[in-house]
Amino acid sequence: MARFDKIREAAHINDVARKYLRLKLEGDDNGVLRCHCPRCQPNKEGRGVLTIKSTQADPKRRYFSCHKSEDWGDCISLVAHCHNISLHEAGEQLAKWCLDEDSEVSQSDSAPEPQAEKPKASKGFDPVKYARHLHQEQEDVSEFGILAELCEEVGGMGRSPKGINRGKLAIPLRKEDGTLVAYMGVDGDVIVPKEWRIA
Ligand SMILES: [Zn+2]
Repeated sequence: MARFDKIREAAHINDVARKYLRLKLEGDDNGVLRCHCPRCQPNKEGRGVLTIKSTQADPKRRYFSCHKSEDWGDCISLVAHCHNISLHEAGEQLAKWCLDEDSEVSQSDSAPEPQAEKPKASKGFDPVKYARHLHQEQEDVSEFGILAELCEEVGGMGRSPKGINRGKLAIPLRKEDGTLVAYMGVDGDVIVPKEWRIA
């Protein structure tokens, strides 16, 4: 698949992990990087670990592996694993992220409203790009009474720094297949499952 090859060329797996998936990687950029897998909860042995490292044969080729699920692969597989979506969908999301990255800063920041239209047909609002600008650190989401883990768990959720949802918690709306369609901005008390509430 030529398009997937383009993505692999344009998107370094370290960047995909850090900037797109917002994983907090620790370690050596050219060696082994590790973090908690945003999808797989740690088990009793603490093996919710995800690593990114080079293949022995070719130091430039890097791959991820999730120790708990034993899933592994390239940057597209990484997105598919972390967001629990198909490879096809992960490829589409990454293509939007990396193949036209420098064409504009972000139209979505000034989008008048989240809209429930087909994102591919719409030039106005691109929910995947929008997701990249959300703030997901604990200090960013504490005011909503939620733990940052929820943002990681949900994927593409966080406090919006700009636009009509500025300062609000932007919650992604997805189709059944996991495609990001639009955002809903909420402020005030957000009711989430107990384990994700700040005690
Ligand atoms: Zn995992």
